[in-house]
Amino acid sequence: MDSGMDWHWARAALDWQVELGIDEAIGETPVDRFAHEAAEQAARGAPAAGPEPKPGAAATPMAEPEGPDPVDLAREAARGAGSLEGLREAMAGFEHCELKRGARNLVFCDGVPEARVMIIGEAPGREEDRQGKPFVGRAGQLLDRMLGAIGLSRAESVYITNVLPWRPPQNRDPRPDEIAMMTPFLTRHIELVDPDLLVIMGNISCDALLGKRGITRLRGKWTEAAGRPVMPMFHPAYLLRQPGMKRHAWADLLELQAKLKALG
Ligand code: URA
Repeated sequence: MDSGMDWHWARAALDWQVELGIDEAIGETPVDRFAHEAAEQAARGAPAAGPEPKPGAAATPMAEPEGPDPVDLAREAARGAGSLEGLREAMAGFEHCELKRGARNLVFCDGVPEARVMIIGEAPGREEDRQGKPFVGRAGQLLDRMLGAIGLSRAESVYITNVLPWRPPQNRDPRPDEIAMMTPFLTRHIELVDPDLLVIMGNISCDALLGKRGITRLRGKWTEAAGRPVMPMFHPAYLLRQPGMKRHAWADLLELQAKLKALG
């Protein structure tokens, strides 16, 4: 590259922009708007970084957050749900997550509520948003095949939900505040289904339930959350992109099968 950037540097810069929510490029070359502003200010004779604060001058007060904390409101709404249907209604009536406005459907669950295994994905994609059901696109079809390989199915033995019930625009990663405000609903969902164990797929699910990311390190090792054993696994969408990682998913499925047997 003639810009002095190597591939890794460019990739990190791109990832950082995606993290900030940028999902489209509108020009071929980057525009440094700050340089432009500084040049204009210099031409007017104004200091580029604004006036120096006078010693002892009060700092600009931080804006107070308006209204109640959405996480508290979510906790209250989730606590009040006494059944899965009640929880679905509470989530449908929750107006504080802006993802709701861009989504066609609330994606609540699929599978059997009596299941011993509860699978928690990240967020609905386009097909899930259209049908109002989790894991019905390509990743979902792979998930079904993975479950089938150890004798499980959503028709008989697993219950499936996501951390987020609404599709993020352009499938962007959910923001930390969105994860935080929907996690009380997820933990109530787990309490109401009361499975023997949880399988959490991908980093967003690890973030919501374990408070940390790093699926490559976390996968395949039993841990605990919501008062029960948890197996973090690679997300099927990742396995579609990285088929070489399927051997790890297979090892994790065998672990899951052994645990179910051990728990009786
Ligand atoms: N990916 C997920 O995490 N959940 C879905 O429901 C679909 C794709």
